[in-house]
Amino acid sequence: MTILAKYTQLREHYHRIAGAGRDPFTVRFERLISSTEGVLNGRRTILLGTNNYLGLTFDQSCIDKGVEALIEQGTGTTGSRIANGSYSGHADLETELADFYGRQHCMVFTTGYQANLGVISTLVGKDDILVIDSDSHASIYDAAKMTAGQVVRFRHNDPDDLHKRLRRLADHPGNKLVVVEGIYSMLGDVAPLKEFAQVKRENGVYLLVDEAHSMGVRGDTGRGVAEEVGVEADVDFIVGTFSKSLGAVGGFCVSDLPDFDVMRVACRPYMFTASLPPSVIASSLQALRRLREEPGLRHRLTANSRRLYDGLRNLGFQVGPDCSPIVAVSLPSKELAIAFWNKLLESGLYINLALPPATPNSLSLLRTSVSAAHTPQQIDQAVEMFAKVGRQLGVLPTLVQAAE
Ligand code: PMP
Repeated sequence: MTILAKYTQLREHYHRIAGAGRDPFTVRFERLISSTEGVLNGRRTILLGTNNYLGLTFDQSCIDKGVEALIEQGTGTTGSRIANGSYSGHADLETELADFYGRQHCMVFTTGYQANLGVISTLVGKDDILVIDSDSHASIYDAAKMTAGQVVRFRHNDPDDLHKRLRRLADHPGNKLVVVEGIYSMLGDVAPLKEFAQVKRENGVYLLVDEAHSMGVRGDTGRGVAEEVGVEADVDFIVGTFSKSLGAVGGFCVSDLPDFDVMRVACRPYMFTASLPPSVIASSLQALRRLREEPGLRHRLTANSRRLYDGLRNLGFQVGPDCSPIVAVSLPSKELAIAFWNKLLESGLYINLALPPATPNSLSLLRTSVSAAHTPQQIDQAVEMFAKVGRQLGVLPTLVQAAE
């Protein structure tokens, strides 16, 4: 038995998926033409699975700021902020994010994954309780593994279930931290944050909202779902990422908790990893400014999301419950999803294949994510490709009959 023998089953599962056509886990973009187009397998391809919500990866001002910082400050910081110091850009970005969210404090992390891992595992000590939605992102589940405190799960997007579980924990003397996401990454469904905020108030617990997929996407000024439904005052911690609407990499947490800054010397995923390179900090800061000064990006994103969601739903595909920039088509089997994904790629459309166990309720999903940079024509082309492949594979007639 080798040390990797425990993964034999996983490898076989992976080989079956990759053996059915192209390997979805090693897709290589040979060339990027723009934030919505690339060359894959020598073919010009529409990119509809990149989380590039505002299309800022090719924004000229973001590129210019990144290049300027690269030339002036070098390629990397070569160390962590507590051991090797911060560059002024890190502090500037934290100040601007705190200002954007109207909060006292902000900590920037090297990824969004580390922001969740670090903040949640540091906040929840051995005498506390972490309460998470059952469909939480892997970074939240991994934080749950790291904490010494008790972990409780509640039914996905179900405020009544959360309330019930908190009532049962009412006599527990420790602090309780409830963690939810604004928009869920697989199905694009939106959390009922107004109701969650009420449960939070009634039970006197802390609330953390991960707005990874909703920053720059929802709310009057793009702060996310908490802003959209008017409950920001009830949210104690907002976590976000630079890897989606800001088109870079990195993560952050903002809060008004008076002692929040102690986290800088208590939070291991912040302390024991290198800080972001100056170029990434500079392009992220510029992207945040673009997000703030150009609401038109968000409005275009909303219109494109609606166009894709309605287009696919009207064809008879089963899509998620809410219209958001993540539009996921659910198929009856893994095999069909794999075949569908391959045919779309051959037709010149790149999306994400999401299969169990990585999906909620073991769904087989064709996951798309829309960008403000897509033209309406690109969205229509994508819908047409879905329609064509859906008919070829017999998915559409089946689903239409099922709906009748
Ligand atoms: N939270 C959620 C809900 C996510 O979907 C992701 C990334 N997919 C993350 C956190 C982690 O973000 P990052 O890519 O910055 O590590």
